[in-house]
Amino acid sequence: LPEYAFIGRSNVGKSSLINMLTGRKNLAKTSAKPGKTQLINHFLINKNWHLVDLPGYGYAKVSKSAKKVFQKFITNYFEERKQLVCAFVLIDSRHKPQPIDMEFMQWLGEHAIPFCMIFTKADKLKPKELEKNILNYQEEMLQVWEQMPHFFVTSSTAKTGSDDILEFIENLNNEVTE
Ligand code: GDP
Repeated sequence: LPEYAFIGRSNVGKSSLINMLTGRKNLAKTSAKPGKTQLINHFLINKNWHLVDLPGYGYAKVSKSAKKVFQKFITNYFEERKQLVCAFVLIDSRHKPQPIDMEFMQWLGEHAIPFCMIFTKADKLKPKELEKNILNYQEEMLQVWEQMPHFFVTSSTAKTGSDDILEFIENLNNEVTE
């Protein structure tokens, strides 16, 4: 089945977004590697695609060696996954472009991994501020890419933005299964 990965800095709002996308009800954990702490969770959605919940990167509080372990998990995932259709990189709407996010997206680009951006916690900003922050990102992105990647704006608190993402995924699913 096609897979869609969700990733971002810790605390970016990934769990909340995943709960919103899945509505929790149709959520089914599918990967089972008993005995190990699950760093990567798979959820079967609508019986036709997998949502892959990747560990957050950029923990401020963990040691360098722990960071390496997380990085390894993430890079292994991306290097091995044949089913991956698109990665969603979550970005906290409130912040200026963060080097760690820029580096990560550059890495995805270098590995020819398709990705979109999701600006989270949009409810925390006034529309003007939100627009400005997205434009800031766009400016940074255009120094590396020819165009701004496809992006979404979400708020798990206000429950907005999930329909667009789900529709985008269903459209891609139809393309890959045709
Ligand atoms: P994760 O660490 O990336 O999985 O982030 P969580 O989903 O656990 O969210 C981190 C914190 O941000 C929690 O305190 C959430 O309540 C808060 N949060 C997440 N999404 C939103 C949002 O859309 N709006 C607001 N205002 N807060 C959010």
